[in-house]
Amino acid sequence: MQWRPHDFRRIFVTDAVRSGLPPHIAAKICGHSTVDTTIGYAAIYPEDVITHHRAFIARRRAQRPGEEYRDLTAAEWDEFLAHFELRKVALGTCGRDYGTPCAHENACVRCRLLRVDPHQLPRLEEIHANLADRLQEAKEQGWLGEVAAIETTMAAATQKLDAMRTAGNATVHLGMPDTRPAAGRSRAS
Ligand code: SF4
Repeated sequence: MQWRPHDFRRIFVTDAVRSGLPPHIAAKICGHSTVDTTIGYAAIYPEDVITHHRAFIARRRAQRPGEEYRDLTAAEWDEFLAHFELRKVALGTCGRDYGTPCAHENACVRCRLLRVDPHQLPRLEEIHANLADRLQEAKEQGWLGEVAAIETTMAAATQKLDAMRTAGNATVHLGMPDTRPAAGRSRAS
């Protein structure tokens, strides 16, 4: 028997779906534009796997409130996208949970949720230098109430700078997710 590359594709799909992978996910992995193409692997693909999977989905949907399966309204979609817009900050991206407000009074330099954009290294260095100046001034002027706060912020900035310099070119900034092209939607401006 002679094996062709396409045979391994069929074997993969069959094995994955038999192991419980939903056919529409298999279709995505294979690059099929419709699940029908995936189902077309019928020669080696047991129809009852699809039947059972569809029955499972039907049972699951029957048990869930119907409104969970309605289309999103334009306002809901805009609200979803707006969350990611609101996570853009000067130094990079805020990593807080979806739908939650800033819990740290926008003190991003101190915040562990900040994902610093490597391109903003000079900005962070500038902030660090500015903090050093402010710390010196506070000490000289006897503004002891500010010293501890500035030192805390400086320590956080130093830690972030060290992490960025250590990571060097290994850091890959993935940017903000943009689901609009994939979803075929656009946001009203
Ligand atoms: S302080 Fe933290 S939670 Fe708030 S915006 Fe900055 S990174 Fe996000």
